Amino acid sequence: MTSVPIHARAGDQGFLKQLNRSAVLELIRREPGISRAELAARTQLTKVTVGAMVQELLDQGWLVEGSLQQGSLGRPGRALHLNERRHVLLGAEVGVQGLRVVACTLTGRALGQRAILVPSTTPEATAQHLATLIMEVLTYPEVAGREVLGLGVAVPGPVALHDPTLLFAPNLGWRDVPFLTVLKPFLPDLPGPWLLENEAKAAAFGEVYFSGGDKPELLAYLSLGTGIGSGLMVGAPVPYLLRGAQGLAGEIGHSVLQSGGLYCHCGNRGCAETLVSGWAIRAALDIPPGVPLETALQPRMQDADVQVTLRRAGEALGMLLTNLHHTLNPSDIVLGGSLTRLGEPLLGPALAFFREHQHDLYARTASISIHIRTDSTFLPARGAAAQVLASVFHESSVLG
Ligand SMILES: [Zn+2]
Repeated sequence: MTSVPIHARAGDQGFLKQLNRSAVLELIRREPGISRAELAARTQLTKVTVGAMVQELLDQGWLVEGSLQQGSLGRPGRALHLNERRHVLLGAEVGVQGLRVVACTLTGRALGQRAILVPSTTPEATAQHLATLIMEVLTYPEVAGREVLGLGVAVPGPVALHDPTLLFAPNLGWRDVPFLTVLKPFLPDLPGPWLLENEAKAAAFGEVYFSGGDKPELLAYLSLGTGIGSGLMVGAPVPYLLRGAQGLAGEIGHSVLQSGGLYCHCGNRGCAETLVSGWAIRAALDIPPGVPLETALQPRMQDADVQVTLRRAGEALGMLLTNLHHTLNPSDIVLGGSLTRLGEPLLGPALAFFREHQHDLYARTASISIHIRTDSTFLPARGAAAQVLASVFHESSVLG
């Protein structure tokens, strides 16, 4: 159990109050059911201060009270939870093959979601499509009438560190796109904050932020879709994303595995994506875009060319996993994205390669968990929604 001591600029009572509210909300989010007395002990605030703050947050609809329960500090106290009935967080993803939108509660429970397959075109046309989809989800019965807290948008490429610009999306052919600015005219009245995030980073964030229980030491999310990306999330004691000096950490699909190899969409040669990615598998097996890869391959799974292509791609994925493990030593690796649905013919060789190439030290102390998420369609969008909540709680001036 970690405590959250409060520090603030002397004399700035408004700022201090905001920090306190952030800390209290964040503790209730991470430990649903916590009591006022436990909050006071953990934040090192007085019981009077915590009591007044909790009452204000109850009155404003951020919290709800549960039943009396025996706390760890002796006297029984009322359990405090985030209010799931009042607000909605919006998350969206611009994928290479389609668009996804999810609306969820403060604890990440999906209230409504929608995915469409649509070929990528210009940023303007994509923004218009996405806005229509968001407006549609906002009319769903579970969503309508709730207060929108903001929108997070996940995109298939790195995002600039200090402004919401998609720097490069080689599989969309987009470069330096301020996507939120492009989207704004189509959703002029949608409240903020609006955030832009790389899709693998968003998924990694959501995996940790919305998960209950113990947080992973270091979680690596690998997004295996048309392209290959990764998000690296330190889970404890305070969750944060590893972004790198220019925000480019995690561009694992463009790590070079083969000197002088095939040309990649990024312009370099021998990138991991030329060996294992949706586009490389499509190119090798002559599958046109538009049809989901798993649907196109289903009737051909026993064909020799399909088996050889997936085995080679799987071995390249195993190489990536091995290098990732030896570089960062994560406690958890999560494999998501549409390629996970190709199953054993791809993932079997990948995991076999990974096992066979473990350094003895890692094998002896092995505690790595590899999770395969075949239901990952909405993970980047949900993670982008999680970032909205983190932003709202951090910038607690918007809390009222
Ligand atoms: Zn590349």
